[in-house]
Amino acid sequence: MIKENLTNIQKKLPSGVTLVAVSKFHPVERLMEAYDAGQRVFGENRPQELAMKVPLMPSDVQWHFIGHLQTNKLKLVLPYVSLVQSVDSLHLLEAISAWAVANKRVIDVLLELHLGAEETKQGFTEDEIMALVAGEGVRIRGLMGMATNTDDMSVVEQDFARIEGLYRRIQGLGLPDFDTLSIGMSGDWPLAVRHGATMVRIGTDIFGPREY
Ligand SMILES: *Cc1c(COP(=O)(O)O)cnc(C)c1O
Repeated sequence: MIKENLTNIQKKLPSGVTLVAVSKFHPVERLMEAYDAGQRVFGENRPQELAMKVPLMPSDVQWHFIGHLQTNKLKLVLPYVSLVQSVDSLHLLEAISAWAVANKRVIDVLLELHLGAEETKQGFTEDEIMALVAGEGVRIRGLMGMATNTDDMSVVEQDFARIEGLYRRIQGLGLPDFDTLSIGMSGDWPLAVRHGATMVRIGTDIFGPREY
């Protein structure tokens, strides 16, 4: 099943778009099925779960952190990930920078954009992102966004169009490493690809429903 799901997605995914298999809440045996089918990039959203899974999976897995990250959990996450997709505040960016300098590392991050109108969602506003200057030890690789949680695809499309526009504006500034637009999940990734996604984060369409 997992293998077929991956194959079906990869068939439709343009080359150059990175598929992140969102494996949160799924046991390591399921991740290994995906690994054996060739998948190498996995996304997790809880620090403890990530730290538990890392030593159980082969060492060539690339882990992305995609959930809300508290600054007191950095050491559970930063040593193991190749990308933190969910930097949603200046406070967090500064804390990652400080950790990176202290540990002589450079951490790749995406800035999580606040899309749609949902009040509770974490994330930067467009103005905040335009004003940002990266600190030492962090490399801002691009933007991550989640569309408004709705079945109305015209709303989702508006969200993607906005983040794509912002992404292109920032790219126009000529930032050297700014090359990643992470939008699109199980329900909406084909639309995200049409709006310039270079990375999609897919859980349910690969692993089936999660049991919380
Ligand atoms: C869980 C999650 C996904 C994957 O969601 P699916 O609908 O299962 O594909 C993508 N991005 C983030 C940030 C998530 O937390």
